[in-house]
Amino acid sequence: MMECASTPQAGRSCKETFNLYYYPANADIATDHFPKWMENPWIKVDTVAADTLVRRNGRMGGASMRSNVKTLRLGPLKESGFYLAFLDQGACMAVLAVRVYYRLCPAVVASLASFPETVPAGLVVSAEGSCVEGAEGSLGRRPIMYCREDGEWAKPAAGDCICVAGREEKDGRTKCSACPPGSFKPKVGELPCQICPPSSLSTSAGATVCNCKVGYYRATGDPVTAPCTKPPSSPRSIVSSLNGSTVDLDWSEPLDSGGRSDLYYEVRCSEYAAGGGWIPCTRLSFVQRPEKLKERKLSVSGLRPQVIYNFRVLALNGVSETNGAAAMGEELNVTIDRDLPNAVTGIQQLAASTSSLSLKWKTPGPPPSPSRGTVLDYEVKYYEKDQEDPRIMYLKTPANETTLSELRARTMYAVQVRARSEAGYGAFSGESVFQTLELDPEKAQPQVELIAGTVGVGTLLILIVVVIAVLCVRKHGSNKEPEYSDKPGQYLIGHNTKLYIDPFTYEDPNEAVREFAKEIDASYVKIEEVIGAGEFGEVCRGRLKVPGKKENYVAIKTLKGGYTERQRREFLSEASIMGQFHHPNIIHLEGVITNNSPVMIITEYMENGALDSFLRQNDGQFTPIQLVGMLRGIASGMRYLAEMNYVHRDLAARNILVNSNLVCKVSDFGLSRFLQEGSTDPTYTSCLGGKIPIRWTAPEAIAFRKFTSSSDVWGYGIVMWEVMSFGERPYWDMSNQDVINAIEQDYRLPAPPDCPSALHQLMLDCWQRDRASRPRFTEIVSALDKLIRNPASLKITTREQPGSSQPLLDQRTPHYSSFSSVGEWLHAIKMGRYEEGFRTAGFTTFSRVRQITTEDLLRIGVTLAGHQKKILSSLQQIVPAEKVSGGFAPFY
Ligand code: AMP
Repeated sequence: MMECASTPQAGRSCKETFNLYYYPANADIATDHFPKWMENPWIKVDTVAADTLVRRNGRMGGASMRSNVKTLRLGPLKESGFYLAFLDQGACMAVLAVRVYYRLCPAVVASLASFPETVPAGLVVSAEGSCVEGAEGSLGRRPIMYCREDGEWAKPAAGDCICVAGREEKDGRTKCSACPPGSFKPKVGELPCQICPPSSLSTSAGATVCNCKVGYYRATGDPVTAPCTKPPSSPRSIVSSLNGSTVDLDWSEPLDSGGRSDLYYEVRCSEYAAGGGWIPCTRLSFVQRPEKLKERKLSVSGLRPQVIYNFRVLALNGVSETNGAAAMGEELNVTIDRDLPNAVTGIQQLAASTSSLSLKWKTPGPPPSPSRGTVLDYEVKYYEKDQEDPRIMYLKTPANETTLSELRARTMYAVQVRARSEAGYGAFSGESVFQTLELDPEKAQPQVELIAGTVGVGTLLILIVVVIAVLCVRKHGSNKEPEYSDKPGQYLIGHNTKLYIDPFTYEDPNEAVREFAKEIDASYVKIEEVIGAGEFGEVCRGRLKVPGKKENYVAIKTLKGGYTERQRREFLSEASIMGQFHHPNIIHLEGVITNNSPVMIITEYMENGALDSFLRQNDGQFTPIQLVGMLRGIASGMRYLAEMNYVHRDLAARNILVNSNLVCKVSDFGLSRFLQEGSTDPTYTSCLGGKIPIRWTAPEAIAFRKFTSSSDVWGYGIVMWEVMSFGERPYWDMSNQDVINAIEQDYRLPAPPDCPSALHQLMLDCWQRDRASRPRFTEIVSALDKLIRNPASLKITTREQPGSSQPLLDQRTPHYSSFSSVGEWLHAIKMGRYEEGFRTAGFTTFSRVRQITTEDLLRIGVTLAGHQKKILSSLQQIVPAEKVSGGFAPFY
């Protein structure tokens, strides 16, 4: 556009503007004459002026010349097209370019809806969209967005879309993606997919719910977001306490609540009908309704004597009903035996000192059947009240009073007493709590006097009884002469008879069997398979089903036919002994069958059999902690036996049985193998006055038959050695005489490979020549407990004990180079089973074997870490400086 001022000749008609017109039309209808060249029908858009004018002073075409750009808007248009006209009225100008365009909003996906391309006719125009796949309009409305005149969408859109159940929004709300497997979205909405709740799963995409895994359920009211749960496990340890015709049932909660908090219990009762078979209980009254119990106890009254009641306690929860499977339960049979003594009541303290409590209680009232109901004696159960896991102690007394001694000062003791008649034990009394006095002598003084005053006359009587008792024991010639108990003197005070009673002190040993072993009806026992050979006949596994009780696996020892009366007595003596013991680490006697042939002793079944063979089969497969746990069990059983003044005389790994939980129990209470003529077992060597398992026996017991709990401690040391060496034979293949000589010269077994030093030291303590210097079983239990609490102490495994005064036997296998073949060496280190593997893998010479690696061993099939270690450590063994001969090599 030229500047008018610079072209004066153009005169007053010179313009620096032009006009733009348009003419709307639906078709191309214009000609030279139509529409008329005039405003109206043409519609003026605007007068256009230039921003930059060109001067005539030669700048034309210069770099500074700029094109003017004007953007004008016309409309609104209703027709489908229009013409444009430029009206120039004297301007000197050039139209360089005309660009005609219109704006529109492009197709878009936003807010989970897709909107079509939209032309903004007017300032804004609303566009209706549709929800993307997997989304739906909230409140049923179609989504709307506004397209602005400038071609931009105005956000937000109204009427939002949201993802349906099983889908979640993704990529800036442009799509609804299916929830991936393992997650779910239960309903339509903005929330994202969630991970499946515990114990549920979704296997395909787009899940709206995660289904419960097999065995898990949701209760009817559980939301889909709740974890799946299962019915609880059985309640545990139901105990009953009978009080007249009332039984209080009490149980522990299930180990597994099934993952729910709505646990409740149901007690079902059935009674054994006179004609046989179980029927629902009749005429009983329950303190609470036995369904939907929240508490773990229930009182049932109205029990009739001699009726067997079966109480089944079920643990249930919200999914017990939905799952349809029968709820697990725990049962207990209860019978009121008419002849059992009534519960003891009225326990009173007569006196107390710093270490003892003298107590008295009422004799229970006359039982319904006086012929069998006379009270024979009482059992007193007592323990420290404030201990979390107290050691429970028992003692027996024929009188309705006793003195508990060897107690701790200023300690509360809980005491319960029950009476025994011929029919058995009555119920325990409720717990009474008494406290011993403080150690302060001034405080204790008056009480001691009180005791003296109260029981003064009784003391003389007690002394007389003591003398008579001692004389009786001597007269019966018991060859058991307990050296000590862990609580010396306790048993004689107050006529208590917690002592073990030797069945051979009975005039008629059958009487002892009747007293200590229950007679079992032969029809309750089913023999299944022979599992071992006992002294008197086969040992079998079988099942015992006493009516109204759970069926149990049992071990059955039989007495083979053709026995003499004496053999029968000896066979059954084991049951009379075992029946006196009640301890988790002593094999439990179920009962005997003496009224039927063959005569049988029935005990609990120990799945893993004898400890020695069990360890040999599992060589190297237990950690020191596990081994110490087993040893602790054995020591605890032995502590109990020592407390009862029972001397085992044959403690050895072969006489320890192991159950499926690795619990070790002391067994073998038979005396027969010690007898001169009895067995031909070479383990038991004939000595003056009987047979003795030399390798396990203390020197004083071998030399002059001094069998005591201290000699049992020696045997326990040997068991420790057997355990830590995974069933190795003590003193290997040395002869019995060599063993006796070696012990006499103070040689002792060295630590087994990898044996923690502390354990070997404990073994050496058990093998002290002076029996009084050996630890007692209580001390052994405490020492092992200490090691278990501090597992780091088990990591120290120096083989040679510095400063140890005990010379040791050397049990190391000779250096591998002294073997003539790889096979021979493998057998010597008890790894003969891998001989074939070594051969196939080419390890046939020691020069090859020396280079063997753990990977090679794995290839050969030596997968057990213990075995790998054994092989590798044997190869690393240094050639001994002195020649080892016959397994001996004392070193200090
Ligand atoms: P015994 O006559 O007690 O030495 O028993 C002989 C063998 O029978 C033992 O070495 C065990 O292998 C096996 N045995 C004995 N009692 C049981 C039991 N209660 N449970 C499992 N096995 C047993």
